[in-house]
Amino acid sequence: LCVQAGWQPKNGEPRILPIYQSTTFKYESTEQMGRLFDLEEEGYFYTRLQNPTNDCVAQKICELEGGAAALATATGSAAITYAVQNIATAGDHIVSSAHVYGGTYNLFANTLKEQGISVTFVDPSDPENFRKAIQPNTKLLYGETLGNPNSDVLDLEAVSAVAHENGIPLIVDSTTSTPYLLNPIQYGADVVVHSTSKYINGSGDAISGIIIDSGNFSWSPERYPGMKEYKKYGKFAYLVKLRNGIWRNMGGCLAPMNAYLNIIGMETLGLRMERVCNNAFRLAQALEKLEGVSVNYPLLESSPYHELAEKQLSGKGGAILTIRAGSKERAYKLINHLKYVKIATNIGDVRTLVIHPASTIYIHSTPEAMAEAGVYDDTIRISVGIEDIKDLIQDFTEAVESLGEE
Ligand SMILES: *Cc1c(COP(=O)(O)O)cnc(C)c1O
Repeated sequence: LCVQAGWQPKNGEPRILPIYQSTTFKYESTEQMGRLFDLEEEGYFYTRLQNPTNDCVAQKICELEGGAAALATATGSAAITYAVQNIATAGDHIVSSAHVYGGTYNLFANTLKEQGISVTFVDPSDPENFRKAIQPNTKLLYGETLGNPNSDVLDLEAVSAVAHENGIPLIVDSTTSTPYLLNPIQYGADVVVHSTSKYINGSGDAISGIIIDSGNFSWSPERYPGMKEYKKYGKFAYLVKLRNGIWRNMGGCLAPMNAYLNIIGMETLGLRMERVCNNAFRLAQALEKLEGVSVNYPLLESSPYHELAEKQLSGKGGAILTIRAGSKERAYKLINHLKYVKIATNIGDVRTLVIHPASTIYIHSTPEAMAEAGVYDDTIRISVGIEDIKDLIQDFTEAVESLGEE
């Protein structure tokens, strides 16, 4: 599907998906334009609402995830914001894993809170923690399939069961596992979001996001009054509401050029994921043998998530690992010693990237919030790329050994 799904050219049409770099679309009659605006007739008329290049990328990712329908967004952050706001408004409550991407933590703890949506963060390692936090006004459970930065594996079957027993959906961010390692819908997730800026795009050259709906959740009109008029769309209800409301009115559509870059990236998603997962595992094993650092990677025997990774991630562990260097000074020294590995705030690039989360992504977080997310002063996040593993092991080994002299 990564290689073959999506754009299917007809005879004589371009082999590669064209970039429809046009704001608007032209029509012959004013009557037809009226019908399009009224949604009586299907057709493209303004790229914020629909664009053929964007639709193609949404359909392809939807197919890869086994969803009912999908909407492409300008960024991963927009995807998360809209996925939540589509079913939660002022006065509502959500329960989120505390082990989420720093930007998501800030979105929930600050921005959505200002808008009247309250959040309880829970330790995701025990699914019962989600149950304990549910209130009568809770509208959804939220988590990351493979948490950023510590690659904690969320037990999707258990957490989705808690959600469904309480009549609410589970929304997951699957950016770091990608459809190559996992289809969260198969394990009970109801809505899946991705920052496609990362692995799906692959080269670190386009910001983008996506929301995929499973179509499986049955929306109770009592708990979700806003869904009442959309129930008639059946398994498309959630996405039709989103398309007609928040998504088109707030305006976070994808840029067609970025949709095109996502499509090109997806052609090699399988190859890249195979390589980066193998590289990450071998780098984790090599680092574990060194004195002076501790390593956190779900496939290691030492990880509490070892078994779950075997079961839920088809025996792979993703491509993000964290190491702890013992102190902030040692972490800085280690990072600054790296020769090939670049310092940058991104993941899912073909290049191996490192960052010191405490002084960057979590700079505005309290020490308590950081500890809750499993981020410490000496934590280094590594997003492993496709380079030759021998070069990566050598680079990190020399950097770790440079600490030894003190
Ligand atoms: C990067 C990232 C996001 C935010 O995506 P943007 O495309 O940068 O807006 C959300 N979730 C995870 C897990 C991420 O890594």
